[in-house]
Amino acid sequence: MNLLERELHYPLGDQLPAPGETIEVAPGVRWIRMRLPFALDHINLWLLRDRIDGREGWSVVDCCISRPEAQQQWEQIFETQLQGLPILRVIVTHMHPDHIGLAHWLCERWQAPLWISSTDYHVARVLSTAGDTLAGGEAAAAFFAAHGLADPEALATLRARTSYYANMVPSVPDRFVRMMDGDVLDIGGRAWRCIAGYGHAPEHIALYCEELNALLGGDMMLPRISTNVSVHAGEPEANPLRLFLTSLERYRELPEDALGLPAHGKPFHGIHTRVRQLQDHHRDRLAELLAACTQRPHTAAEALPILFKRALDLHQMTFAMGETIAHLHLLWFSGQLQRRLGEDGVYRFGV
Ligand SMILES: [Zn+2]
Repeated sequence: MNLLERELHYPLGDQLPAPGETIEVAPGVRWIRMRLPFALDHINLWLLRDRIDGREGWSVVDCCISRPEAQQQWEQIFETQLQGLPILRVIVTHMHPDHIGLAHWLCERWQAPLWISSTDYHVARVLSTAGDTLAGGEAAAAFFAAHGLADPEALATLRARTSYYANMVPSVPDRFVRMMDGDVLDIGGRAWRCIAGYGHAPEHIALYCEELNALLGGDMMLPRISTNVSVHAGEPEANPLRLFLTSLERYRELPEDALGLPAHGKPFHGIHTRVRQLQDHHRDRLAELLAACTQRPHTAAEALPILFKRALDLHQMTFAMGETIAHLHLLWFSGQLQRRLGEDGVYRFGV
């Protein structure tokens, strides 16, 4: 447990649901934990006891990536954890592969509708069918090269990377039900309010239930790791860190003793503390970058080691580049730094 985590409280301690099993964390809310084949090695999914059109069953929140191992873990859940009832609805917090990957399979298998924000639904569909034109190898390599990535081997590897998203999200259901900020979902007779969040995904939806005082925070409110906030090739002029920091303020409106149910990590108390930690974290990093770029102009590639001190593999490096650009963009859009395009076609940020 790191120092910041000590300021939070984990009501279940080190208890984790075993593969194929669930733990009830609030009345009618069951925690599923599935393995992921990444550095981020798991995702939390949730079963909510539900009743729709007079039918008893369950809503699921988030799906895991499309892989046979994940389907097998779901099959075990279906057999032993549903009390013989069907899945009635598939709720997806946002379009990242670990959240939406198996939505097509779950919706098809249970003839259940997909509930998601409109923005994330459409972005997922585009990426799953035509992802390479928007964010594929060539586009990503050109984007990172314009931000100072010069290593020919890294650029060649990036160029060769295709179907990255479609590989984990081979298809997206043909229809969806739209969730928007402020909408209230009736889930098994309880009201869950949608809280939109920006900067991590196009339109992430978290759900808060006042009766249970519980927040399904998705990736917007994580206790241990800081949410990835990146600029991507598909939207190269974005300012996602400003959006993320503004979105975090919404979680201050919730009671401090609300139970946080995150997509990664363990259920926790201390949402306000976590908001402050994340704001401090980004404020410190922005200050470090501003100091360095004030001394002399930096490309994102040059600024990256200021934020990421450890050695990174190519996959981690692409995330780190996206995050570094997000921090530089916030400083640029707020007028603290200027951006200049050099003769070499590379952007530099300075005063
Ligand atoms: Zn995510």
